[in-house]
Amino acid sequence: MRIVLFGPPGAGKGTQSKLLRERYQATIIATGDMLREEVHQETPLGREVRRYMEQGMLVPDELVIGMVERRLRRLKNGRFVLDGFPRTVAQAEALGRLLARLHLPLQAVISLEVPAEEIIWRLSQRRICDACGETFHLTFRPPPEDGRCPVCGKGPIIQRPDDRPEAIARRLAVYEAQTEPVKAYYATNGLLHRVSGLGEVEEVHRRIVKLLEGRPALATM
Ligand code: ADP
Ligand code: ADP
Ligand code: ZN
Repeated sequence: MRIVLFGPPGAGKGTQSKLLRERYQATIIATGDMLREEVHQETPLGREVRRYMEQGMLVPDELVIGMVERRLRRLKNGRFVLDGFPRTVAQAEALGRLLARLHLPLQAVISLEVPAEEIIWRLSQRRICDACGETFHLTFRPPPEDGRCPVCGKGPIIQRPDDRPEAIARRLAVYEAQTEPVKAYYATNGLLHRVSGLGEVEEVHRRIVKLLEGRPALATM
């Protein structure tokens, strides 16, 4: 499987990509997680992108494209789920050229459709593990009270600086202006499939699986 999981911030892309990884042995390429790791490690790239991220702005295309290219070149079994990339039409075009060179053409773009009120609610309730990035939700998936992450045993569990109200508003505006057009781009070339991201996590997962397995080549290639 070679797919893009597309959707606004907080749609559930990260949550769903982990379930797809388990089911199909695919590698997750999540640019937000990769960039947060660079910031955490204080690498030169991390120092360059930190401001953009904290303010809820997009990181410049060439930096993200280079990072994705390096990751795709190391791919083992040719199966990937892209989460959070592409976020601009320029990134989508660069991805198309890169995948053509690597002989790994994209098979589908799954757009998780979630209305704005729900997005704002999910983002404001999101918490993450500062050590491993595991995602929690104050209501649906409450973080442990002792602050120790159940996945990595570390922590602490924090709120992302860009999940605070001012940054959320900025990110939604950025999404509308720069990322929403990517959907039209993929609709034109017939790769786009819309799936409702509302309802329980497992329910959304089943919708995605149904879509993929209705097209056997997607799940097995
Ligand atoms: P969310 O999960 O809320 O959609 P991400 O974790 O994917 O957010 O991204 C967090 C931040 O990282 C973005 O607001 C942006 O600053 C940066 N980022 C991630 N992916 C990209 C990308 N493809 N292009 C530009 N910036 C990106
Ligand atoms: P994205 O990667 O698209 O930004 P996440 O997977 O991080 O989204 O999910 C955003 C927040 O919403 C997290 O707190 C997560 O636990 C929660 N969440 C994910 N899927 C659902 C769902 N189906 N219903 C309710 N909350 C969800
Ligand atoms: Zn953790």
